[in-house]
Amino acid sequence: MSGIYVHVPFCRTACHYCDFHFSTALSGVDSFVQAMLKEIEMRRDSGVWKDVCFETLYLGGGTPSVLDASDLKLIVESINSAFRNPLGQNAVFLESTIEVNPEDVNVESLKGWRAAGFDRLSIGVQSFHDSQLKWMNRKHSGKEALRAVELASRAGFNRISVDLIYGLPQSEGDWAKTVETALSLPIDHISCYALTVEPRTVLGARVKKGIEVEMPDERLERDYLFICDSAKKAGFDHYEVSNWAKTEKSRAVHNSSYWSGAPYLGLGPGAHGFRSNERYSVVSNNHLYISSINSGKLPDTSEVLSKRDRCNEVMMTGLRTAKGVDFELLEKKWGYNPAKINSTQWNARLKSGDIIPVRADNEIYFRIPEKKWLIGDSIASDLFVT
Ligand code: SF4
Repeated sequence: MSGIYVHVPFCRTACHYCDFHFSTALSGVDSFVQAMLKEIEMRRDSGVWKDVCFETLYLGGGTPSVLDASDLKLIVESINSAFRNPLGQNAVFLESTIEVNPEDVNVESLKGWRAAGFDRLSIGVQSFHDSQLKWMNRKHSGKEALRAVELASRAGFNRISVDLIYGLPQSEGDWAKTVETALSLPIDHISCYALTVEPRTVLGARVKKGIEVEMPDERLERDYLFICDSAKKAGFDHYEVSNWAKTEKSRAVHNSSYWSGAPYLGLGPGAHGFRSNERYSVVSNNHLYISSINSGKLPDTSEVLSKRDRCNEVMMTGLRTAKGVDFELLEKKWGYNPAKINSTQWNARLKSGDIIPVRADNEIYFRIPEKKWLIGDSIASDLFVT
């Protein structure tokens, strides 16, 4: 399953914890949209993607909902006519997601997103508590977050995901209320990430000065296990370390393509793309992006991944999923079987229950049990082929 990711590098305010690429200078939006339309043509004309059939479209950022619906429509139409998708030229993708922030959700914007071709919303809720939202420097209130989900549902969106953050300086009772509130809403998907302290952010500076402290691991674990447990009781399937879906059809198809190692096209400053063992990154600077595109040059840097890199990457992302990894297939595809190469580590992990066998598609897969997902990356990196 291949997908197209568009990075919209603008936000209304800078959240204190965020180190994604974005700018709050919204006066640059028009030039960005013009450059994006050119980038789409340039990638099409490069011919590199002509034999790829893209099944999903994902607008992320940044905050795509700061763009007018008319600009979003232009971008989507341009993508639709430039690249192949399963329903033919100028048709919608099988899944088209837009990330939106609660303060941008209203009856008009919802109509506009629908008209632009989006059938799935990922709403940046993060918390329903005003004090936490303020602490993060989010622009919306808890009430606005609730209203956003309800309006979206009433407008006919039946694929709604909400983003939540755990590890905030809040009581366990407040975290429980956020989770329970989210689960009571008309949504079919939740993404939930731990707050991480990034050095080049307001939060990072505050932690360095001792004004804020990082949440201890034991508390992070309790918050994580709380949502795991509550989501399960509410009928959500925990299909990836940070993602829960109400039904199999509610799973984020677009993200699944990253986890499966399929090619994906990235557009916009700060985006990444991947094709034929080559990964490229588009420059993370709006000004450089626009000037480079306007002078007819794609502002990419790229690296070629070896079979060993690909094997490690596919294993790492696969072990973040409930399905797990078919190690025999890894060997067939990339020439390495980390389980055989790191047999001492492998046997120790199997013995301790950090990795367990499961049957899927008539094959034996190996996965990390849910309770150990928080330490999953270190389990996977122990098995890296070096
Ligand atoms: S809205 Fe999202 S991308 Fe923008 S600053 Fe906040 S967390 Fe970062």
